[in-house]
Amino acid sequence: MNQQEYYEVSCPYCGEYTALFIDCSVTEQTLIEDCQVCCRPISYQVLINDSNEISVSVRHENE
Ligand SMILES: [Zn+2]
Repeated sequence: MNQQEYYEVSCPYCGEYTALFIDCSVTEQTLIEDCQVCCRPISYQVLINDSNEISVSVRHENE
């Protein structure tokens, strides 16, 4: 299984929603993406549990 899941997250800086594509074959991953609106780096911690439910926590990169 090598599925990509689309997930919408809110930017911690400007509050705009930005799209995130998650590789579901990796159960625990950290992604860093620049916000498409304010261009600041956002750190995402992605966890996928046994039921294939995705949980994403968002952190400021410079905290
Ligand atoms: Zn932003």
